[in-house]
Amino acid sequence: MRGILVVGAGQAGLHLALGLLRNGYDVTVVSNRTPEDIRGGRVMSSQAMFGTALGHERDLGLDLWADGCPPIDGIQFAVAGPDGDPAIRWAARLDAPARSVDQRLKMPAWMAEVERLGGKIVIHDATVEDLEDYAAQYDLVLVAAGKGPIASLFERDASRSPYRAPQRALALTYVNGLAPRPDYSAVCFNVVPGVGEYFVFPALTVTGPCEIMVFEGVPGGPMDCWAGVGTPAEHLAMSRRVLETFLPWEAERAAGAELTDEGGVLSGRFTPVVRRPVATLPSGARVLGVADVVVLNDPITGQGSNNAAKCAASYLADILERGERPYDAAWMERVFERYWRDARHATTWTNALLAPPPPHVLEILGAAGGLPEVASRFVNGFDDPSDYAGWFLDPAGAAEYLARAGK
Ligand SMILES: Cc1cc2nc3c(=O)[nH]c(=O)nc-3n(C[C@H](O)[C@H](O)[C@H](O)COP(=O)(O)OP(=O)(O)OC[C@H]3O[C@@H](n4cnc5c(N)ncnc54)[C@H](O)[C@@H]3O)c2cc1C
Repeated sequence: MRGILVVGAGQAGLHLALGLLRNGYDVTVVSNRTPEDIRGGRVMSSQAMFGTALGHERDLGLDLWADGCPPIDGIQFAVAGPDGDPAIRWAARLDAPARSVDQRLKMPAWMAEVERLGGKIVIHDATVEDLEDYAAQYDLVLVAAGKGPIASLFERDASRSPYRAPQRALALTYVNGLAPRPDYSAVCFNVVPGVGEYFVFPALTVTGPCEIMVFEGVPGGPMDCWAGVGTPAEHLAMSRRVLETFLPWEAERAAGAELTDEGGVLSGRFTPVVRRPVATLPSGARVLGVADVVVLNDPITGQGSNNAAKCAASYLADILERGERPYDAAWMERVFERYWRDARHATTWTNALLAPPPPHVLEILGAAGGLPEVASRFVNGFDDPSDYAGWFLDPAGAAEYLARAGK
């Protein structure tokens, strides 16, 4: 039985650990937080996941909340106009519903599942010295520590990382009491030009069904406003103030909003980065980075948890295919490159949405209001961003597609 150690009990680490356990591997997961720490702690994400990523979870029997979690049936897109009304607003259904299960529910349940399947959970904040010990003891060490400082062991890949600083000031507010969207549930994705983005959607949290508000403020702008906010009640008040100022139609929906719990708020910022996938420890031993450790995107497009599940599924297939052969550096590079062939689309698209929209994107987003096919293609790209390459990210492709679609 080959021994594999995973650092990080998050979306990717636990998904991969459970996949390996189901295939007869000896698996240890090192987590710097106990299940109780996670469950009783702060929210870390809004973790909306689309059809493909949910399918990977389902394949391993990890979709434990399929009945309890409210489905997200579509995406609504709006751009704030100068007069307080949306200048653009349209919606389209997703081909498969998305779902968001609070990681405070998900990770403790998955940690229990690791132990039930015979894996070990070690509670420890792993250091580089620990990685040396693990590399000496295990056939393969995977570092799935998310945004943890240990990720800096992996070198930044300048050719794939356009940014040197955070591109948005982020905040999350988990609430109950939001007026439901008419017709069908959706991620309501709102853009306030020059100020930032706000999206809100149904989810399942520790207290039951809820809605998650996500704020993406342009740094230095009026939605970059969380620095002096202290208590959860102040955070909710600031959330309301942002909506009343920039998105009155969303403020109306949120008039009766209350926090789900004191841990249901978060604010912060980070720099998007792609890193080299293999880190060499002082001894010369190699460890392989997973998910956010190696491809960290801004959450503006809600891709991180999706990518974590896709990365886990891709790495799992490669590990199984490797059989008894050594997990050497060349193999590790190939494993990452196979994942990156898909992940690069999410990164390119996410980085593009962080920049002011070029004319062809404005044209697409305007046209989608009158062309349901265009709206549908745009919203379903959230599940498979590789589709954007030929039109959304390409002015000539966009013109050709819009002409064909009837514009
Ligand atoms: C505000 C915000 C909103 C988001 N919204 C979405 C969304 O709607 N949809 C989406 O798909 N993605 C979203 N994401 C991104 C998503 O949450 C992450 O990309 C995803 O959780 C990454 O999974 P991971 O397994 O790589 O890392 P994580 O899920 O972060 O897990 C890493 C784990 O490793 C642990 N750890 C760290 N260092 C160590 C150490 N040294 N030793 C042991 N353990 C360690 C951490 O405590 C953590 O439990 C959002 C992120 C943010 C910040």
